Amino acid sequence: MTEKEIWDKAYKRIFELYGNVPDLRIVSRFYSEKHAFMQYEVGKYFYNLANLRREAEEAGERLIVKAPVASCFVAYLLGTTGENPLPAHYYCPKCKTVEWMDGKCVFDLRDHTCACGETMKADGFDIPFETYLPYAKKLKTVDTVPENYQQLFDSILSHFQRSLLDTAIVCKRLEKATGICMDSIDLNDLEVKHRFLTGDFEYLVGSGGEKAIKQMITLAQPLMYHDLLKLIGLAHGTCTWRHNAEQLLSDGICSLADIPATRDEVFMTIRDAMQDCDFHDMGFAFDVANKARRGYYREHGMENYTNSTLQMLGLDSWFGSYIRVTHYMSTKALAVLELKYSIILNWYQVYYPREYQQIIADYNI
Ligand SMILES: [Zn+2]
Repeated sequence: MTEKEIWDKAYKRIFELYGNVPDLRIVSRFYSEKHAFMQYEVGKYFYNLANLRREAEEAGERLIVKAPVASCFVAYLLGTTGENPLPAHYYCPKCKTVEWMDGKCVFDLRDHTCACGETMKADGFDIPFETYLPYAKKLKTVDTVPENYQQLFDSILSHFQRSLLDTAIVCKRLEKATGICMDSIDLNDLEVKHRFLTGDFEYLVGSGGEKAIKQMITLAQPLMYHDLLKLIGLAHGTCTWRHNAEQLLSDGICSLADIPATRDEVFMTIRDAMQDCDFHDMGFAFDVANKARRGYYREHGMENYTNSTLQMLGLDSWFGSYIRVTHYMSTKALAVLELKYSIILNWYQVYYPREYQQIIADYNI
């Protein structure tokens, strides 16, 4: 398939999912990604990865692509990732109505019935595509996707999420042992959710250890998975939590919901603050997010121009102070993947404890 054919295929998928007249917000996101990424042949990369993922599933395995891929709506449309980066929303499989749930996380969306009587589907993690640009630019020069499943094993770790490989294997074993497909698990199960939000959970994928996260939960008191995603993102960064976000929360300067835990959220905070500007270029927001991500401000200080612009945009002074301290900021997509698989594993632990204990003992995940 040519690059253009792949983008056409993804475009058609929008209409299958969202009906003959999809919400403009959805179509517009597609075109933004097309104009930003097509020149780097991102479509071919995602398309090949989607095929490998499908082959693996047919062979009874599960592969989880590298987390940043979940920033791309086109990757979701092609089946490369199961995570939809649009803002959280309900959509009706029958009459195709869409209801946006801005500021929420799909894991927090309860069952909802459409005006037409059909049960709506919930989706969306609200991840901007702009933070994928540095990865897209490298694709042509660095990575070559293997053409078949056999070759895959040679380069598997360059394309798939290393920290989640064992988790994926454990999930497949749990599926076989319990007869419950992980895709059918209710990710908003109230018992599992209660355990997570009170820190009374068994296991959290990645993110630097359960103990650290449990301490964060005690201080921050998350009310929703949306909040927990923040804590996971903060745990992945360097100089994001300790002596930084932790202090802001302890001193009551801001709430957990306000804190940009990842580079994506720094971008989104500035993007949203720029809503009233009479232009739509997001170069400034991207530049600040990128510098906060790699600790540029910590090392070199923040230019007066940036500092005064953040103030001019109405952002509180703690926002600038916070990103002047960060040394490294992770991606929202990684936090999403880790939370998703953590919910799945803990669901099996709650409802099938015997099978869970047997299988988890074999793996050092
Ligand atoms: Zn409907």
